Amino acid sequence: MSAISVRDVWVEFGDQIVIENLNLDIASGSFVSVVGPSGCGKSTFLRLVLGQDRPTRGSLTLDGQPLRDEPDADRGVVFQRYSVFPHLTVLGNVLAAYELGESRFAARLFGAKRRAAIEKADDLITAVGLAPHRTKYPSALSGGMQQRLAIAQALAKDPKVLLLDEPFGALDPGTRAQMHALLKPLWARLGMTVIMVTHDLKEAFGLGTRVIAFDKTRHDPQAPGRFGAKITYDLDLTRDSPVPVLGFLKPPAETMAAQ
Ligand code: ADP
Ligand code: MG
Repeated sequence: MSAISVRDVWVEFGDQIVIENLNLDIASGSFVSVVGPSGCGKSTFLRLVLGQDRPTRGSLTLDGQPLRDEPDADRGVVFQRYSVFPHLTVLGNVLAAYELGESRFAARLFGAKRRAAIEKADDLITAVGLAPHRTKYPSALSGGMQQRLAIAQALAKDPKVLLLDEPFGALDPGTRAQMHALLKPLWARLGMTVIMVTHDLKEAFGLGTRVIAFDKTRHDPQAPGRFGAKITYDLDLTRDSPVPVLGFLKPPAETMAAQ
């Protein structure tokens, strides 16, 4: 189980209103793609779910429990920019993800715990296709390989929720396609709930079981920061009915009425 519930959430920075009265339920095990114009609050939303930011008002729960304010093992995250440690090998990077969580004070694992962590790290490294590169440093890896490593790191603690913020945005189309082929079976096998922000609609529809669009609800030239983004479109791709892809640009009447 890893259902997320967002209730009456507002995010304000000073006199900016970024997210306005957001209500959302995300089913356990779903793959939610989040799209929307630049600067409308998508990353802010992910940081809320990650526990890096707190809502100004409202609440978020994971399986009915209030989300903890700090990122923890329940939630893994991959950003667009490579977040791997340059001074550690591939194996060292994945092990670091275990060590940082496991032994808060010593920050090193020893003995049987370390051997178990190495075994798990090697399984993950194999799962993301980096087994031949396990002793290489990030500077010797391509962009796609570094993102594979970032995914392995994010998965190290068996997160219930994987958060992806434009994870493939910096990759060339061929590498991006390889990453899609990697991610979809991993998600299906691990049974995580995934929330992925992307600019690429094909990616959003190709990977997601649900696509939600955030957009600004106000365009006030006097107060451009008080745009108050909301969900303006919400599409369940698992429904039996044909997917109204063209409807993407124009929300259907019932969605509008429900807002
Ligand atoms: P997106 O990811 O959709 O491009 P963001 O969530 O990064 O958008 O940003 C939404 C808005 O919130 C922007 O106007 C940004 O300047 C503002 N914002 C985000 N984080 C902060 C912060 N920590 N302090 C002040 N303003 C912020
Ligand atoms: Mg962003």
